[in-house]
Amino acid sequence: MADRIIAAVRLKRKVLEGVNQQSDILDILDAFTRKVLFARPGPETERLKEELVLLMRKKYFPLADESGRKSAIPILDRIGGAEAVQSASRLSGDSLRFLSGYRQKNIAWFTQEVNTGTTALSSELKAEIARASRDGVSRARMVDDVIGSYKAELKQIRKARKRFAEANKFVANAEATGDIKAIKLAHKERTLAHAGTRRVTTAMGRLENKVQGDARDAVRREAQRAQLASYKQAGFRVYTWVAVNGSIACPDCTSLHGETRSIALWHGNMPGDGHTVCLDSCVCELVPNEFTVDNKSIAGPVNPFLPTLPANE
Ligand SMILES: [Zn+2]
Ligand SMILES: [Zn+2]
Repeated sequence: MADRIIAAVRLKRKVLEGVNQQSDILDILDAFTRKVLFARPGPETERLKEELVLLMRKKYFPLADESGRKSAIPILDRIGGAEAVQSASRLSGDSLRFLSGYRQKNIAWFTQEVNTGTTALSSELKAEIARASRDGVSRARMVDDVIGSYKAELKQIRKARKRFAEANKFVANAEATGDIKAIKLAHKERTLAHAGTRRVTTAMGRLENKVQGDARDAVRREAQRAQLASYKQAGFRVYTWVAVNGSIACPDCTSLHGETRSIALWHGNMPGDGHTVCLDSCVCELVPNEFTVDNKSIAGPVNPFLPTLPANE
């Protein structure tokens, strides 16, 4: 049955990867930086913020909802059959209200975060402009310099993100062989690769990193809520935490693994709500308790990075 958890995680991760590698956020940042930000760092950062929020609202949140609902299907199918799948297929009433209420809060949160980032960028650009004028550097050259170093950094960040994605697979592969030495090495590489994704020095790079990270969090939580709304609508009320990421799962998630509570008691402490060591990167699953009962294949954290899915039970 672990295969269904893995399928759910992978489905949701697809959207997350979409956020990670998409170019729309970069396009927006690039267009603003080149054309208007340097001329009017204050007012134009407002517009930059609005465009980023609009992108999330129009594109990524709807995608997240869809993938969240889809990821519930195989699990509902396993515990309640076609009837459960059918009853969750179209959200209405309470479940829909639950999801749209969450959406509002999520958008407000994202807006707030982007606001912090764009305000910081705006003041850094103002300082940059002032420095250039003091040093007698022409505006055009300064803009070229700033954009040039951002572009170079962006290349590095992208490489680092790819390396990190690969590192997760290395760990899963090493674990599948059971070779302690290989596992240790893979973990070391993963730590290094992760640090690489955090190394940014330019103002634009910082904003890009922040916006991408915030977008990922918002989308991930949105997908998790949509999945939960489907379970709720199908009539399930008691949920069990299933840790994912295999041995990479953080200590909090590992100890929460298998914990069962009613939905009311999970409120505020769901995967990704920020109460675990892994904070925003928690991708754990909250599944109807019925799914995990007598299920040896999810006795420990599930590893969605495994190259092949474990056989269905
Ligand atoms: Zn965790
Ligand atoms: Zn987790």
